[in-house]
Amino acid sequence: LEKFNESQIDVNSLLYATGQVALISVSNKNDEIIFANKTFLDIAGYEEKELIGQKHEAIKADEQDYNVFEHLYQTIREGKIWRGEIKNKAKDGSLYWVDISVVPVKNKEGITERYLWVGFFITSRKEYEEKQEQVIAELTEKKKELRKFELALYGTNDHVVMTDGEGKIMYANPAVENITGYKIEEILGKDFYSEELWGGLMSREFYDRLWKKIKGEKKSFSGTIQNKRKDGSKYYALSTISPILGKKGEVEFYVIIERDITEEKKIERSKTEFVSLASHQLRTPLSTINWYTEMLIAGDAGEINQDQRMYLGEIYAGSQRMVSLVDDLLDISRFELGKFTIKLKKVNITALIYGVLEGQKKMISDKKIQFLSTVGNNIPTIEIDENLLRMVLENLTSNAVKYTMVGGKIELDVFYDKEQDNVKFKISDNGLGIPKSEQKNIFKKMFRAYNVKEADTEGTGLGLYIAKSIVDRFSGEIKMESEENKGTTFSVSLPIKAKIKDLEEEI
Ligand code: ADP
Repeated sequence: LEKFNESQIDVNSLLYATGQVALISVSNKNDEIIFANKTFLDIAGYEEKELIGQKHEAIKADEQDYNVFEHLYQTIREGKIWRGEIKNKAKDGSLYWVDISVVPVKNKEGITERYLWVGFFITSRKEYEEKQEQVIAELTEKKKELRKFELALYGTNDHVVMTDGEGKIMYANPAVENITGYKIEEILGKDFYSEELWGGLMSREFYDRLWKKIKGEKKSFSGTIQNKRKDGSKYYALSTISPILGKKGEVEFYVIIERDITEEKKIERSKTEFVSLASHQLRTPLSTINWYTEMLIAGDAGEINQDQRMYLGEIYAGSQRMVSLVDDLLDISRFELGKFTIKLKKVNITALIYGVLEGQKKMISDKKIQFLSTVGNNIPTIEIDENLLRMVLENLTSNAVKYTMVGGKIELDVFYDKEQDNVKFKISDNGLGIPKSEQKNIFKKMFRAYNVKEADTEGTGLGLYIAKSIVDRFSGEIKMESEENKGTTFSVSLPIKAKIKDLEEEI
């Protein structure tokens, strides 16, 4: 094989070959460019005449600092080769990186006459490196943030768990140990939704609804869930589960925050038990008062005069109000304690509505109210507890009558929504309406809006709370639309087939 050494390489061919990939230029002692090859011109975007006479540092990128050039010039002035990476600016303003060697070319006397600049285009590598650096910087920043976050979570009494998009537990704070009795190591990597961990005490429907909301609709869930601790004891958790979405809208992870509200629940329960007991006890003396007042009014104890009749009338009306209040309280406490046995049956809506309106007939005619009711003729029977549904409808219609002026108008529409397979009740009046600022409270226990209090109407603020509890229990929906002094519409929809929601079990 023929041996070949560097000195035998033809300089022109070498230059040509190198020039295909390298940016080559030659400058004089003052670093004024006297030659630039095509690759250089192409990349820098300049015409030859624009570059000739310029210094190399004139085409550097603004952010490329001068120190590099100072070092470069100093090195080559000493007759040494300089090598380094420089960021330049092309004519169109775009930036590019070159890996450059600058070689002083000496004459026979050993004096430097020119400089040979050979550069390689390394922009994509540099951009990749820059991006990499940026990512690392961001990650470091995020890590610092996370650390702060972790410290904050460490101390709270709320149970905080994070899972990946599939529900696999990635993080749990110490409160999880306190509340659930599991060691953090025991639950890391487990499926958050596995019944093995939390006992699966809620109904299948509940878990399905929860799952649909957070995974299907990718929305947050908030509510009370009953769970089991490691030792088997039960607890109530006020729980918020939030999906955190990634750039493409996929669930990246879930954050679950739970507060143990078992103690609060116990207190609430004993309060309700007290109300239940008290209302029960109040009924007997109230009946006695009613009974004897009726007897006095009827003259059973002798003739009474006009004034006495009037006063007894007031006592009687007052005790009637008390009876209805006590009944409402008793209903509520029974409902909250789950002592209301639900008797499901197929209910004929037309007959039920008829019965409800019969009860309101006197008030409606006393107030000269125009009452229109339209009950669709295709309404199937609905499976529900008839007494509870009656309570809902009685509450809504009696409110409409109560809060509508003399000569007002009320409409009751009942129709079947085939698509949703539910029955909708709509009760509209043109009465007092509910002030906007009060509307959010309307279903709260004992709430009465200021306008009805001013209008001196009687009421306990319990009716709508009861109605909503009942509708919720049967997986229905109750909505209100109202404008003050214009009127109010309540709509209730209930599924044809009974779907009873969980009522939390006793602990
Ligand atoms: P009550 O009628 O005994 O006060 P409810 O719970 O039935 O209690 O109603 C709560 C409050 O909601 C009422 O006090 C009233 O302010 C408002 N409200 C309910 N229905 C109507 C209606 N049809 N028109 C105007 N306000 C209403």
